Amino acid sequence: MTHGVSVLALLLALGTSTLSQAQEQELPVSEVAPKIFVHAGETALMARENDGAIANIGFIVGDNAVAVIDTGGSVREGRRLLAAIRARTDKPIRYVINTHGHPDHVFGNAAFVSDGTVFVGHRNLPRALAARGQFYIDAFRRIMGEQLLDGVRMIAPTLLVDGTIQLDLGSRTLTLKAWPTAHSDNDLTVLDEQTRTLFAGDLVFLTHTPVLDGSIRGWLRVIDELSTLPAQRVIPGHGPVSEWPGALTDQRRYLETLASDVRKLVAHGEPITVAAGTAAATERSRWKLFADYNARNATTAFSEIEWE
Ligand SMILES: [Zn+2]
Repeated sequence: MTHGVSVLALLLALGTSTLSQAQEQELPVSEVAPKIFVHAGETALMARENDGAIANIGFIVGDNAVAVIDTGGSVREGRRLLAAIRARTDKPIRYVINTHGHPDHVFGNAAFVSDGTVFVGHRNLPRALAARGQFYIDAFRRIMGEQLLDGVRMIAPTLLVDGTIQLDLGSRTLTLKAWPTAHSDNDLTVLDEQTRTLFAGDLVFLTHTPVLDGSIRGWLRVIDELSTLPAQRVIPGHGPVSEWPGALTDQRRYLETLASDVRKLVAHGEPITVAAGTAAATERSRWKLFADYNARNATTAFSEIEWE
């Protein structure tokens, strides 16, 4: 009865895959402030082995509703975040807030598409997702594999932030602020007024080498303004939850060093390739993934600074 066996095997396989979709294992989260939960992303590149789960993502529970802040680097990670939410509250997820459009923060969005859930982002985010989304999906299909990319869709926000808006979760107000071009051209922060907890997205990096995809001068200006926010703690896009505004110190030094090294190279007429190889070299031992990002940051900074 080989036929019977293969049908049984097929049914079992179908059963497991349906089960794994319906009941993803909860993503580990910790409560960093009352009713604020964070999954600490691994300091690594997005890969098949880590489900793309490299960014800090989380959720905030109010009296009436939940807000999700970033959804992770795959639909699987998004589903696991959803399972972590549902293990703690049955309140409706009213908002999914994306801090910016990079894959490690938005690839899980599809797990949260539902009636009554509004996607929220910087006014520039829809444009960024339209311009880069398909490129990201194609690139990470090669890196992470077909299975993890299956179901990843670019879901653009419909509630757009230009300046500042407040969202009410029920006895809990979130202040969302859209920033001028800095780490990217679509950076958004979320401040929980009650606990003074700041979700900074990739405007703040600790441990993980900062990733420059916007303007180095803009980012340094934004850091000055960020430091005046009345927060007590920050959840950076990457790196440990830290006290505020001390968390900005390392990143400010890195970006200042990078800018000043690049300025000197430009002044000496050195080519961009020299900048890529030498700028901010004194920072090498202070950051993880330095070799993966610093040369690219130097190239981006060089292109900006040579036109100063
Ligand atoms: Zn990121």
